Amino acid sequence: MEAVLSANNVSYSYVSRYQKVDALKNVTCSFEKGKFYAIMGRSGSGKSTFLSLLAGLDTPTSGEILFEGKSLAEIDRNKYRKYHASVICQSFNLFQLLTVLENVMYPMELQGAKRRDARIKAAELLAEVGLDESKHNKFPQMLSGGEQQRVAIARALAAGGKILLADEPTGNLDTANERIVVNLLKALAHEHGYTVVVVTHNHDVAAQADRIYYMKDGVLEYERP
Ligand code: ADP
Ligand code: MG
Repeated sequence: MEAVLSANNVSYSYVSRYQKVDALKNVTCSFEKGKFYAIMGRSGSGKSTFLSLLAGLDTPTSGEILFEGKSLAEIDRNKYRKYHASVICQSFNLFQLLTVLENVMYPMELQGAKRRDARIKAAELLAEVGLDESKHNKFPQMLSGGEQQRVAIARALAAGGKILLADEPTGNLDTANERIVVNLLKALAHEHGYTVVVVTHNHDVAAQADRIYYMKDGVLEYERP
């Protein structure tokens, strides 16, 4: 099967006046449609750097990231981020001054959708992640961590892209909510054809993945299965 997303010999260095950190070294791997991937590795091994390159938030120092076979250097990275790949992070990053519903409407409005259409679609997405109408007009801070992460997932889905990139999405959650969020991400991959990549420290989360990549000192060391 053709990869939706792949990294081809990707390296990345953080360069400042005083030092150079080689955060990624010749990373090559690929991600297919409908699969759930975990990336594991110690703190500082390069996981977040890799995820941000996959998300098009930054560009490799050398090598390339390919979306549907085309280099992100050749396609518009802003378009890629707006329409194809969404990021979910540990701290949810919801807009605190917008309601739950408005948070989910936001990416659609950014794409030019009518407010009314965005509202209907946002309500559908919130239902899909298991949040009923009683939550729609609340502000994010009034929700539990697990609920906030589900809002963040609904917002990621609202953009309409089929790539979900999550950096420690369960890092701030208790075990019960961790399960809910992981099952949701897994279902999005297996039942709805999303390509899901999750950076995690957690072995229970990784155990749910179709494939696990390990990073060590910027090198993608080995994988299972
Ligand atoms: P992980 O997510 O696995 O903890 P990171 O990708 O955040 O790892 O970091 C990889 C390496 O790059 C580490 O050595 C880290 O200190 C370094 N690094 C990360 N961000 C920056 C930055 N903005 N400036 C300089 N070095 C950085
Ligand atoms: Mg990190």
